[in-house]
Amino acid sequence: MKILVINSGSSSIKFQLLDMQDESVLASGLVERIGEAEGIIKCTLRPGTDSELTIKKAEAVPDHTTGMRMAVDLLTDKQQGVIADRLDISAVGHRVVHGGEDFHAPTVIDAEVMAAIEKNVPLAPLHNPANIDGIRVAQELFAGVPQIAVFDTAFHQTIPPHAYHYALPYELYEKERIRRYGFHGTSHKYVASECARLVGKPLETFNVITIHLGNGCSMTAVKNGKSVDTSLGFTPLEGLVMGTRSGDVDPAIHAFLARNCNMDIEAIDQMLNKESGLKGLCGLNDMRDIHEAIAAGNERARLALEVQTYRNKKYVGAFMAVLGRVDAIVFTAGIGENDEIVRWKTLEGLEPFGIVLDPKANDQRIKKPTLLSTPGSLVQVWGIPTNEELAIAREARAVIGRQ
Ligand code: AMP
Repeated sequence: MKILVINSGSSSIKFQLLDMQDESVLASGLVERIGEAEGIIKCTLRPGTDSELTIKKAEAVPDHTTGMRMAVDLLTDKQQGVIADRLDISAVGHRVVHGGEDFHAPTVIDAEVMAAIEKNVPLAPLHNPANIDGIRVAQELFAGVPQIAVFDTAFHQTIPPHAYHYALPYELYEKERIRRYGFHGTSHKYVASECARLVGKPLETFNVITIHLGNGCSMTAVKNGKSVDTSLGFTPLEGLVMGTRSGDVDPAIHAFLARNCNMDIEAIDQMLNKESGLKGLCGLNDMRDIHEAIAAGNERARLALEVQTYRNKKYVGAFMAVLGRVDAIVFTAGIGENDEIVRWKTLEGLEPFGIVLDPKANDQRIKKPTLLSTPGSLVQVWGIPTNEELAIAREARAVIGRQ
């Protein structure tokens, strides 16, 4: 069974073809700079095998339809391709960022589902339209193949009302659907279930704090296998300190900036999303550059690291209180998998709560699931590489299996 996974962004399309017999990757690629003068398409066919082949082209990709066609042409190429017939594909799995309150689980895309994804565009104006583009093109190119939507928000639909409501006038929830939705759900769900398997506990009774630290950062409290709270909120801006996003700020800062600094709402939104976080504090948004700058004596880079890891620690404490019993903590994504200093500073000082990192085990980049805590640590700490494409493919397989 072959499943094609598509993650369509505003100016890019990430794709991966998996053979679900053994969950191996048959091809993976990226079309970037869609709509710009020159686009880039990169695809690796049969990675990790003797016949591995990487193709890279630079040419104009005017729109998503063209980008998807280019990707599919590479996959179906008679000489080098990995798909003999388009109908060999059992399903196309699509990452869809915002499912609002409509979707609690992955679903087959029909006209009604498409309408609901469109209805949620105001909640994710940058993401959902790109996801819709990707679905439309795939429906055309893979006519007759089931298209499955896997929502970033779905895993968090189990968060109870006391955790998803903001203390705002209730009409804002009723009329505008303003509430916490949470994001990165596919990643949190994947590492939570992988961790339960590794610890040897049934997911249904497993309590874990999952920490996704990449360009975007979020933390989720998972109780009995279900998300009960998460740090990202109505939009992917709340919570932890991210590459360019502020995370939590006093909401009164908006009014202050508008009244005193002549900033309009667009400028404030742009500043909080694109000019804040690590970048706002020190001018650098990549954690590798921040470590280099710290080594060269840059105090603002050190401050950025301190602010981010302190915020992480505060959320760990909050989610420990939410869960009561914590079986494990998992680090994942670019920083979570690769940065032993961030992991260390996030959990340092939590030993009295039964969280004891093993300095030697922690001192590595995580390439496969790795236990990072000492044998005596009450709470196991794991580094688990996230794999959103595999998670989406598994979800798609489960949906078509149920049909
Ligand atoms: P992601 O969004 O999961 O792809 O993560 C991207 C981020 O991971 C980058 O912006 C870096 O800040 C961080 N990152 C990637 N590799 C490393 C590394 N070796 N050490 C520290 N941070 C890293």
